[in-house]
Amino acid sequence: MSNIFGSTLVDTADHHPMLRESVGKLVGSFGRTYFQDVVKRKAKPVELWSAMGEAGFLGVHIAEEYGGGGSGLADYNVIVEETAAQGCPMLSLVIGSICAPIIQAHCSETLKNEWLPGLASGKKRMSFAITEPNAGTNTHKVTTTAKRNGTKYWTSGVDEADAIMVVCRSEMVDTHGRHQLSLFIIPANAPGITRTPIETTLHVPEVSFTMFFDNVELGPECLVGEEGKGLRHVFAGLNPERVIAAAINNGISRFAIEKGAQQSKDRSVWNTPIGAHQGIAHPLAKAYIVVQQARLMTARAAALSDISSPDAGEIANMAKLAAADASLEALDQAIQIHGGNGLAIEYGLADLWFIARLHKTAPVSREMILNFVAQHSLGLPKSY
Ligand SMILES: Cc1cc2nc3c(=O)[nH]c(=O)nc-3n(C[C@H](O)[C@H](O)[C@H](O)COP(=O)(O)OP(=O)(O)OC[C@H]3O[C@@H](n4cnc5c(N)ncnc54)[C@H](O)[C@@H]3O)c2cc1C
Repeated sequence: MSNIFGSTLVDTADHHPMLRESVGKLVGSFGRTYFQDVVKRKAKPVELWSAMGEAGFLGVHIAEEYGGGGSGLADYNVIVEETAAQGCPMLSLVIGSICAPIIQAHCSETLKNEWLPGLASGKKRMSFAITEPNAGTNTHKVTTTAKRNGTKYWTSGVDEADAIMVVCRSEMVDTHGRHQLSLFIIPANAPGITRTPIETTLHVPEVSFTMFFDNVELGPECLVGEEGKGLRHVFAGLNPERVIAAAINNGISRFAIEKGAQQSKDRSVWNTPIGAHQGIAHPLAKAYIVVQQARLMTARAAALSDISSPDAGEIANMAKLAAADASLEALDQAIQIHGGNGLAIEYGLADLWFIARLHKTAPVSREMILNFVAQHSLGLPKSY
């Protein structure tokens, strides 16, 4: 597929255009139909995952001493966006994006050596479990205890994971009487863990589960960082997770707009290509603009995160919100341009809808981002 987006606007390093080209070539050799076929067969994109691992694309942001590429989120953003732009929006890239930075920042050398090389090569996988049915967005209400029991839901990719990073409630309480949280890395098949899949509308290979923890053994060797500091440790993974979620949406946007532009030129219903009608052209042009804004913001968030800027959190949140909205606008117009075919799976657009829509809700919801901006950027009182 042609690249009408170029890379001049958003790339923040000289090597990014070349990186885009290599990722585009590799993932493009699989392409949208490969990804759709994997989903249809309820299989996993193992060939694509291995090829990306071998090329070093899965671990660019992990330190070289642990088998990674030693660069940062700016490179990883380019890789993930390019992967989705080729029609392969792998949510596994988001699922894993939170764990490696937390391990790198807070784990013992033993845990780093145990996990980072495998995560970098793609040979090991880790899911992340924070969300609970009765806690939801309010993490302080997490009830899964470091004494081994509890329920998590929406934990994604556990069927492919070697371990789960689980946010648990510890016995320690803070000055407000709230239980402190601790983080544990638990083998995905540990005795006492059971799971049931959640059926969704998403056309993806990844499956999300409700997880039941019943007297699961948790030794001190499973603890990430310090007991009671779990929430603080999670912060190391929040910007990467938001940026990578945005990158998926930006890639979906590019895929949609490129297809929409092509169809606008190719399809004539009256005497001119449909793209000559402003009712078709203007919404697509408008979508292109909001997508470029979202890509710019995402690239900036990644670059700021790489230099540990205190502004990275605000911009990563805003980028995720902007990218989710922009991708829905882009997809909506691309679907419209394709007429009835926009809704046919064969055209590869409609089945992207809920993947794009997901990131309005997860990993952090639109409302919680608006709360963050209202409170921290605008200085408004906290409402909850
Ligand atoms: C496909 C999928 C995959 C997922 N994968 C994972 C995963 O791998 N690991 C994991 O831990 N979680 C995962 N999640 C869960 C996801 O992160 C949560 O669904 C999300 O954070 C929202 O939490 P909740 O569903 O409990 O909603 P709730 O917290 O119940 O919120 C419901 C609604 O109320 C709004 N709301 C809540 N509080 C406020 C407030 N103070 N002000 C304004 N509005 C508010 C929310 O924004 C939301 O719109 C996944 C979810 C999906 C759908």
